[in-house]
Amino acid sequence: MKPLAILGGTFDPVHIGHLCVAWEASELLDAEVRLMPAGVPPHRTPPVASAEQRVALLRAALAGQDRLQLDPRELGRDGPSYSVDTLEALRAEQGDRPLVLLMGADAFASLPSWHRWSRLFELAHLGVFTRPGFKAAWPADLDAAITGRLVDPAGDWYVREAGSVLQLEVTPLEISATRIRRLLAEGRVPRYLLPEGVFDVPGWLEVYRRSPG
Ligand code: ATP
Repeated sequence: MKPLAILGGTFDPVHIGHLCVAWEASELLDAEVRLMPAGVPPHRTPPVASAEQRVALLRAALAGQDRLQLDPRELGRDGPSYSVDTLEALRAEQGDRPLVLLMGADAFASLPSWHRWSRLFELAHLGVFTRPGFKAAWPADLDAAITGRLVDPAGDWYVREAGSVLQLEVTPLEISATRIRRLLAEGRVPRYLLPEGVFDVPGWLEVYRRSPG
């Protein structure tokens, strides 16, 4: 069975950067990839769009292909969406299948602030994307935690179910949801930064237009 990789995020809204890195991860890791929107993200201000709107945009964005899937399980849980809880559930359900938690370099640098973050290495491999525009040294405790874990994504990391850190060299795309929200709030239409299908979803543009950006 192929490894199962998860890209968690706010997806407020989903953009071409998310789709591109998720797609390239599926190729680099030969993995099934699921996009998993967070209900109440623990590390940031609440999303502008509702969970239903973000899911509708994700569904529209993922239409027409079957390599990337939507996994909405975190939206059904009360309280903050902790990745460690999601991975515990996935581990229980997937047996010894290799799991990979995907994230951009920005998210990775903040890992030591995540709930029970050391446990993540016991539950999954971590796949870290390069992210243009983001440059920060990893904090010392993160550096210590990944010592001996960095492995080549083209190697045989998948013979173990968890514990490695894979650096994924993806096509650099300096696109963020923050910038897209700002453009929308200014009344602009970032047509080609967003997947085409989202423009058929009714009502969502107004939600971002009304927000302060
Ligand atoms: P925001 O600007 O609101 O923080 P975002 O664009 O970072 O949003 P998220 O939904 O927070 O999007 O991101 C989900 C995951 O995808 C995170 O791990 C993030 O680092 C990663 N990611 C998002 N955009 C890119 C990109 N252009 N390149 C690499 N990784 C990305």
